[in-house]
Formats: sequence, structure tokens, C-alpha cells
Amino acid sequence: MESTEKALVLKVGRFREVDAWVRLFSPRKGIFNAFAFGGSVSRRRFLGCLDPFNLVAFKVRTDSAKGYTYLLEGSLIASHPRLRQDTERLGMAVNCVKFLEAAHLGPSGSDAAFSLLLETLAALEESEEPPRMMPLYFRARMAFDQGFALQLDACARCGVDLTASGDAQLLVEQGRLHCMDCRRWGHGASVHLGREALLVLRAVSVLPPAGWADIPVTGQARMECGRALDLFVEYHLGLTWDHGSFRRI
Ligand SMILES: [Zn+2]
Repeated sequence: MESTEKALVLKVGRFREVDAWVRLFSPRKGIFNAFAFGGSVSRRRFLGCLDPFNLVAFKVRTDSAKGYTYLLEGSLIASHPRLRQDTERLGMAVNCVKFLEAAHLGPSGSDAAFSLLLETLAALEESEEPPRMMPLYFRARMAFDQGFALQLDACARCGVDLTASGDAQLLVEQGRLHCMDCRRWGHGASVHLGREALLVLRAVSVLPPAGWADIPVTGQARMECGRALDLFVEYHLGLTWDHGSFRRI
């Protein structure tokens, strides 16, 4: 069966000199591998397509019996040249992709994740000074979008307005925020989030990635958000960062 697939190139490997395998992410199929025969040499069929972080419209053939997908030709929609040349931007982009791969999204959650990743890559490409928090924001937003949204405005127990009171306690396992009066009613691991950390998380949950660079963040907020999200992602998505990659626990 042949179809056209808009996909982001995540990784490219070469074999047999002229052939390539490509790991792709598409909104329809999620993450999948495909073969490009003659991919390394065929300038005509894959002109400038087979590089990481390229967005490409591929014509693909799927052999359902064997479970293989073949790329027949590609047409480049967008690339991220600045991101590929700047090691800091590249490192953050790779971190986002590693998280995405580890989270093992099936095709059902891929549409939202695809948009989020593309917007995040565009922000990393275009922002004059992308904040170091970008990968963390990406993880937070992806978790929120995949059904682990946090109610960030009100105490989950007494309903008090947290935008006014400031501090809160994140109950990691329950995925709830309690005000300081109710924090003793939580159980399991919990993390304190000050006013600034809450403002950061609220901004990340509503702003598109292009706006994340403008979120003011203090050292304290960075630390609190980092700790809270690490524990949250570890508990709810079962992933932990270990020696340069995400590991399922
Ligand atoms: Zn309360």
C-alpha cells in the first residue's frame, strides 16, 4: 500500500553503502522505522531530506505482511539549520526527542505530541536565546497534554485560590496540588512549589512553545519545577533520566 506521510526525521543510519534506515515520527503513525534503498546516493528522490530534524513529505510503501515500511521519495517541507549547527540548541532538541521516544506513544497520542515537538523545535531554531529550561518545559507540557494535567489554580482539597495564596505542595502520586493548610492531608512523595514555580508551570501549560522563552524564571523556581517534574514524570510516565537517556522504571 502506498501513501504520503508527513514526518519528522529523528535518526538516520546507513547500511550497505547506499541504503539507509530512518526513524520517523508522524502525526498519523507515531514513531516508526523505514528503509530508504539508495537513500544515501539518490539525490533525486531524497534531495536534502535524510537529516535529523527535517520535516519531510515522504511517499511510503507499507508491506503489512512483513511489517516493513519503505520510503520511495521525499520532498523537504522544513529544516532546522541553526538547530543542527549550534550544540546547545541541538542538545536540547535531542533531549526532547529522547523523551518522546522513551514515552512510547502509540499512534493515538501522536497528533498532539507531533505539534508540540514541531513547535518546540521551531522555538529552539528561532529564539535568539532559547532558555535552558526548554526540554523540561517540553516534558511538562507533554505530560499535561497526555492526560496528566495538573489543576494549578486551586487547592484540590479545600478549593482555595492558589493564584492568590502563592505556595502549594505537589502531591506527586495523586497528581494534585494542596494549599499550605491542606498539605498534611497528602501522602507519598511531595514537592513544595513556591509562587514563582507555580507561575512558570501555569505559563508552560497554556503558552505555545514560542512563548516559553519569555517566561521569567528565578533560580529557586527552576529548581522547584525541575524537581517536581522529574518526580511527576517518573511516577506517572514511568521514566527516569539516567546516563544521558530516559530509562523505563
Ligand atoms: Zn487547601
